Amino acid sequence: MSTCILVVDDNPINLKLASELLEMEGYEVLRASDAEEAQSILGEARPELILMDIALPGMDGLALTRKLKSTPGLAHVPIIALSAFAMKGDEEKALASGCDGYITKPINTRTFPTQIKGHLRRA
Ligand SMILES: [Mg+2]
Repeated sequence: MSTCILVVDDNPINLKLASELLEMEGYEVLRASDAEEAQSILGEARPELILMDIALPGMDGLALTRKLKSTPGLAHVPIIALSAFAMKGDEEKALASGCDGYITKPINTRTFPTQIKGHLRRA
């Protein structure tokens, strides 16, 4: 069985790009475009890694991360924040919310697979 990764991003182009890059690497990919959809997927599936866009409509990625990290059975699933904010302090905010890592958008299609592999290995 291949490693399963949940990608949460409200931007359809970003969601498609990240998902397709991961699928090309042989991962099974689950896609969600907001916190509600992500939570409904997590009610049935247990991915090995979650890629979490920070800026989401409704509950944002940081709030969702805090929620998942306090949910028994999900707290151990590594969450990697995806953020387009080129703002100082954003990475710290993600880590403070419980994220296990941070990837800046736009994602670098060449280094992205290696970054993911590294986060999975650390998990
Ligand atoms: Mg977004």
